[in-house]
Amino acid sequence: MIRVAVTGAAGRMGTEVVRAVWRAEDLMLVAAVDVRRVNTDAGVLAGLGEIGVPVREDLEGVLDEVRPDVLVDFTAAAAAVQNARLALGKGVRPVVGTTGIPAAELEELRRLSATVGVGAVVAPNFALGAVLMMRFAAEAARFFPQVEIIELHHDQKIDAPSGTALKTAELLAEVRGDFRQGLPTEELKLPGVRGGTYDGGIRIHSVRLPGLVAHQEVIFGGTGQTLTIRHDSTSRESFMPGVLLAVRKVMDLRGLVYGLDRLLFET
Ligand code: NAP
Repeated sequence: MIRVAVTGAAGRMGTEVVRAVWRAEDLMLVAAVDVRRVNTDAGVLAGLGEIGVPVREDLEGVLDEVRPDVLVDFTAAAAAVQNARLALGKGVRPVVGTTGIPAAELEELRRLSATVGVGAVVAPNFALGAVLMMRFAAEAARFFPQVEIIELHHDQKIDAPSGTALKTAELLAEVRGDFRQGLPTEELKLPGVRGGTYDGGIRIHSVRLPGLVAHQEVIFGGTGQTLTIRHDSTSRESFMPGVLLAVRKVMDLRGLVYGLDRLLFET
């Protein structure tokens, strides 16, 4: 049995993880941590009824007492880095789904994980379909270098653009090399109307509306044609197979793996 603790256990993703871990036969939910709903049973928050795992606030105390094998984190960027640092320091393997972690802090976690020889996974998108969408987009960029990204999420999402959009742009930029797109100057009647610009002029547009979960379109333009690659997560359950896969795989890793794609195709 792999012993799993969850940070952000009262949140939208955290409650989903609590449910998925609780139902997995080879995993044991040993702790739930959040700064909200402290002392409430995590099962009640996740719609499972009482499971005898109350939400606690003190991660350090939890790690010392409960000694989980893996810590799954879906909180906020600053908290996630702090939580992963703490976990690695105690030999607990972090699986981080929280997005918006700055590159410098990701590198710090990579170094720490290598130094202590403990596995870690950071993945901005745990949905298998999203990973495939990014892979297909990178393939298409070899033939269609002119591209824009539209990502659409629920209106409670704090960071923009999404980690997935940034990761997609990073992959596209790698494939395109020195390619530059777009006019040198544009006459904008409304500031920001052309979205944010990633390396080489890749535009990213972020839509935030209730009713959405997590969606992305990568639109390629060519002579007389466009190609659209689209992925939709219509429920947060879509992330759970990827999260559980990471929990199982992180047990055999030494060092940090970034991205579900690397975990699926390179480990
Ligand atoms: P959410 O509903 O706001 O849940 C986050 C929870 O973590 C909240 O209860 C929050 O409390 C709590 N929290 C904040 N700091 C904490 C700390 N230091 N220790 C313990 N708990 C803490 O957010 P969500 O929608 O679940 O999303 C969480 C993260 O997952 C976001 O970064 C989101 O972009 C990301 N996400 C990733 C994927 C993926 O596949 N990788 C998929 C969906 C979402 P307060 O509200 O009081 O701060």
